[in-house]
Amino acid sequence: MAEARRIDGKAVAARIIETVKAGTAALTDKTGTKPGLAVVIVGSDPASQVYVGSKAKTANECGFTSIKHELDAETSEATLLDIVRDLNADPGVHGILVQLPLPKHIDEAKVIQTIDPDKDVDGFHLINVGRLSTGSTDEAFVPCTPAGSMLLIRDVLGDDLSGKTAVIVGRSNIVGKPMAQLLLAANATVTIAHSRTKDLASVCRGADILVAAVGRPEMLTGDYVKEGAVVIDVGINRIEAPEKGLKEDGTPKTRLVGDVNYAEAAAKAAAITPVPGGVGPMTIAMLMANTLRSACRSAGVEPPK
Ligand code: NDP
Repeated sequence: MAEARRIDGKAVAARIIETVKAGTAALTDKTGTKPGLAVVIVGSDPASQVYVGSKAKTANECGFTSIKHELDAETSEATLLDIVRDLNADPGVHGILVQLPLPKHIDEAKVIQTIDPDKDVDGFHLINVGRLSTGSTDEAFVPCTPAGSMLLIRDVLGDDLSGKTAVIVGRSNIVGKPMAQLLLAANATVTIAHSRTKDLASVCRGADILVAAVGRPEMLTGDYVKEGAVVIDVGINRIEAPEKGLKEDGTPKTRLVGDVNYAEAAAKAAAITPVPGGVGPMTIAMLMANTLRSACRSAGVEPPK
């Protein structure tokens, strides 16, 4: 079989960002409303800092007002909850994102449930989880990574997945479970696999659509992939890459890999996302799309499709 099509998440994400920019300009022109995205980060985890920085940068590029609250790691839960409540009450803020993970002394669930569901652009509030799982996908804010993955699947297979089998490896609340809901809503026949699944490779080999959200570098080898499958690799894992040489501190340089062994899977799949450049860029693009949608709703304007 020929090498799989490489699904270019960067290009699809760039198209979404262009639509968001145009939609923002139109909204601001028509109503004076400028979408506002507030990002809250507690502590100085380097990966979280990078994510938050690129979210704020993209928000600015889209024409949003971007608000960043950088709080030190000792910030109390009560202080954080007060900040979230203030953002809930601020009419200039349409999207609130609290970067996870939070320090151990803060109850993550409590913080998420304090965010106004209508500003919960991450889609983690129980109201949005409930909307998605009862099929109200138009009303829900859908978590950005599965929403972006779904657009990539649609880009290859179209909107209706009737008759297709989908296997998602991973059952987290932020990726695996919402991904399953989206695939189900598109009429796929869905299996969620996880660490207790027996004979995972054979379960995965049944999949027309295979979504990997495990967090284990290159775990899904070619043996897990059905001929002609569409493979979506959500995983982002940093591994040592001694072939790239050493860093200044003498330790090996690193590189990013997914949960799928790209070369092996690409030899069997019809289409596959690379890491980096696949699902990653889609996550930020969907966050911008969700924020614009929230701003449009608050202004009583139809959001762009
Ligand atoms: P979690 O750690 O929350 O969940 C991992 C899931 O994988 C769990 O359900 C776990 O099963 C399952 N799992 C772990 N080991 C195995 C195994 N050996 N066999 C089968 N299943 C296994 O991770 P997330 O969902 O948050 O993230 C998954 C990956 O996606 C990570 O690499 C993360 O970095 C990446 N990610 C990428 C994003 C992006 O923007 N592209 C955004 C979010 C995440 P069990 O429940 O039984 O423990």
